[in-house]
Amino acid sequence: MPRMPSPTTSPAAKSGPARALETLGLNTPIALALHLPLRYEDETSLTPLAQARPGDTLQIEAVVQDARVELRPRRQLVVRLVDDVGETLVLRFVNFYPSHQKTLQPGARIRARGELRGGFFGREMVHPQFKAVQPDTPLAAVLTPVYPTTAALPQAYLRKAVASGLLRANLGEVLPAGVVPAGLPPLREALLFLHHPPPNTALATVEDHSHPAWQRLKFEELLAQQLAQAQSRRERALLAAPVLVARPDGLHAQLLATLPFRLTGAQQRVTHEIAADLGLGRPMHRLLQGDVGAGKTVVAALAAAVAIDAGWQCALMAPTEILAEQHFAKLVQWLQPLGVQVAWLTGSKRGKARDRALAAVASGEAALVVGTHAVIQGDVQFARLGLAVVDEQHRFGVAQRLALRRKLQLPGERQTEPHLLMMTATPIPRTLAMTYFADLEVSTIDELPPGRTPIVTKLIADNRRDELIARIRDEIAQGKQIYWVCPLIEAAEDTGEAPAKPARGKPMAELRNATETHAQLSAALSGVEVGLIHGRLKPAEKAAVMARFKAGELAVLVATTVIEVGVDVPNASLMVVEHAERFGLAQLHQLRGRVGRGEVASVCVLMYSTPLSDSGKQRLRAMAETNDGFEIARRDLEIRGPGEFMGARQSGDALLRFADLAEDAPLLAQARRQASWLLDRHPQAAQAHVTRWLGHQLDYLKA
Ligand code: ADP
Ligand code: MG
Repeated sequence: MPRMPSPTTSPAAKSGPARALETLGLNTPIALALHLPLRYEDETSLTPLAQARPGDTLQIEAVVQDARVELRPRRQLVVRLVDDVGETLVLRFVNFYPSHQKTLQPGARIRARGELRGGFFGREMVHPQFKAVQPDTPLAAVLTPVYPTTAALPQAYLRKAVASGLLRANLGEVLPAGVVPAGLPPLREALLFLHHPPPNTALATVEDHSHPAWQRLKFEELLAQQLAQAQSRRERALLAAPVLVARPDGLHAQLLATLPFRLTGAQQRVTHEIAADLGLGRPMHRLLQGDVGAGKTVVAALAAAVAIDAGWQCALMAPTEILAEQHFAKLVQWLQPLGVQVAWLTGSKRGKARDRALAAVASGEAALVVGTHAVIQGDVQFARLGLAVVDEQHRFGVAQRLALRRKLQLPGERQTEPHLLMMTATPIPRTLAMTYFADLEVSTIDELPPGRTPIVTKLIADNRRDELIARIRDEIAQGKQIYWVCPLIEAAEDTGEAPAKPARGKPMAELRNATETHAQLSAALSGVEVGLIHGRLKPAEKAAVMARFKAGELAVLVATTVIEVGVDVPNASLMVVEHAERFGLAQLHQLRGRVGRGEVASVCVLMYSTPLSDSGKQRLRAMAETNDGFEIARRDLEIRGPGEFMGARQSGDALLRFADLAEDAPLLAQARRQASWLLDRHPQAAQAHVTRWLGHQLDYLKA
């Protein structure tokens, strides 16, 4: 056995590669054992040079005849080899180090592996892998793994570390018989196979992850995740929460009676689902999903009415100040006439007004508190918080959810927490709901309020910009209002969300920024007022611009993505998105949802510049093909994978490494069934399995 690197020595003693192992999270035997090869190299056989064909990737053995640095046609190390029967081969290295020259000395016996070419010098390999051997050096018995790694961590070092991890890790079975689907190998066997497949393994099934060894790993991972979620759901069921029940003539009924519209069937259904949860005396964790414009706010207001009527406070949080302000305006309009005091809290507001708001929240006088994340930060104390509503939950990272729950724990003998209602317009595909959100209840508004006309989406290349502006002039003449969205105002803008990514290698100056577009449209549309709103404006300035647009004083609003979420201006019927190829699918769908809110037919123009990347094309095509948020979400998941989908890039370790939700739905369903059986019958095995797979990540999964 080669000397093993010891990845767990004290930090002071760590060499570069050891530190690199740590950075990659490869600091335990199990982590190393689970670090799977990207691909394999076949060093199990030698091909005689006489039989080697150009184009083949193969391993040969021969002796160095001479090695010299040549300067023409360019500087390179040229090594001539000859094998035992006199066949020759040239190795060429444009990049080489003294160590190359040292190993490749005349007389040295070399095994080289690479693609054989018929070149200028005859048979040759360019930049092959090679090593010096003795005539009796044995061939590898198994395929050689090639691991994903970084520059600081040489492949050979990592190979040894993984081999040692495999030996040291506890890979014994912890699951009782019958849990693992029939036909899948034991964990140890699966891992040994995947790291060191025997010669002649059909690699196709390993590469496409359908091999039973891969299936075993996927199942293990999905099971751990299902167990953690089921456990967290069970633990939460043991906690207490305020019992919130609507009285027959209470606030809930009064609000319903005064609304200017009737609830849709879907709104009624989810309102009942929520009300039922609120009365159970244990914390609700419910996700309310419904497409843009489906009418989630009123559902939240009705839930708030129940809480307030029962004598508790409700907090409503939104990811941006603009959105929070819109909620505030709406809720004041709905609830204030019924005698509810609504307080407004954001991060940017300081001074006396904030102190007054804080005092009203702390005394319980303010029954409803609306704001940004500031609502749960630092100095905010609630008298009796019974329900927290988080809008656009996909913007709340997992860590924020956890922080929210910690902040919200209520004093009392039994651990007591408020109810939590999360709302999102980015629907969660079924497989995701079953995995990352398996501990949440889900309510879905699958119907839009009546009277909406479907939005027509058009894709146009940006060389038709002038045509578009002419069309806009006509629209304005008919009294319509227009949004024009630009990707970013400058490189480092903070819009409170991930900016659309600039195409790589394109100078920033090439981006038409919002300011330029504003100037251009103002000039082209003389006599029309064009507004501008972006992340750099002060909240009061943003609010003023939005108010003027809403009042119809501005015909056109040029905006960065600050308007993405929740803005409600029913008279706006044309949405132009510039450089649409730079936006994510969910973002585009959100933006499109800003129009089509009134009765006029609405249009969304997605302007793109070429060349388009493959995923850019896929996104634009999806937008043109469907208006259905669920379908959009499904395609988004397909294009991006679950990590980015959830906006949880930072907490990437909580995501699946082996399983692929698009492909592994059947395994997921089995893992789900087995998880609840295991928790009932074999809680210790369940615990051992979760600890092996998730260890320190548990906290995150329970958020
Ligand atoms: P979202 O689900 O995107 O948050 P909103 O709650 O902002 O949607 O609702 C969009 C618009 O539809 C608002 O103007 C809201 O007042 C209105 N609305 C909500 N429910 C209904 C309904 N049942 N009938 C008619 N209009 C409704
Ligand atoms: Mg909303």
